[in-house]
Amino acid sequence: MRLRNISGSRELIAASDYVIHEPQTHKGSWSEVFGSDAPIRIEIGMGKGRFIMELAKNNPRINYVGIEKYSSVLLRGIQKMEAEPLQNLYFIRMDAEEITAVFGPGEVDRIYLNFSDPWPKDRHAKRRLPSREFLQRYDEILKKDGVIEFKTDNRELFRFALDELAPAGWHLEQMTEDLHHDAEMMRDNVMTEYEERFSSMGNPIYKYIISR
Ligand code: SAM
Repeated sequence: MRLRNISGSRELIAASDYVIHEPQTHKGSWSEVFGSDAPIRIEIGMGKGRFIMELAKNNPRINYVGIEKYSSVLLRGIQKMEAEPLQNLYFIRMDAEEITAVFGPGEVDRIYLNFSDPWPKDRHAKRRLPSREFLQRYDEILKKDGVIEFKTDNRELFRFALDELAPAGWHLEQMTEDLHHDAEMMRDNVMTEYEERFSSMGNPIYKYIISR
């Protein structure tokens, strides 16, 4: 999702207290950023932030970090935070390729990937957020019994993501090929912007939860 380049979005982000500006300096000490030892859960590719903001609102005893590559998109999340500030949520504008420079070993309790960009060309497979290259990065920062939750409406991306698990040393805890008709996995489901859009078009939503 790349909105038109909103002029000045980088400047607005640079001035925002809801954004962590030099995230590498907090590697291994994120509990100090939040002022609490609560578990830290992150969404990579948060878009405009609806999902992670709702989680943060519903779970005040968990700390959240939303990560987004593009300023123009992140800006929407910041505007929502200004309207309704949350103490347990910060944003980072970064490419998730650098994630191991930002979180220490085992520092993250859970990772959410929602409607990640499919990068359909084979030569771009490494850029897909559920690729084995990214799974290796997640392995470094996620606590031992931590899980990754991934949702998408893209069948090919989901198949690819499933095929990446064994080579990367991960395994399925749960999965569905039609989340919205799976009562158990739907319990506590928080909709993302893309999920709302694609499920209202009748597309099935795929989801897995994985661990090592
Ligand atoms: N998660 C949101 C949802 O479900 O509504 C947004 C989905 S949108 C298709 C994917 C988002 O991931 C975009 O905002 C994109 O900029 C972001 N993204 C893609 N690759 C990324 C990366 N390597 N690092 C950080 N963000 C990324």
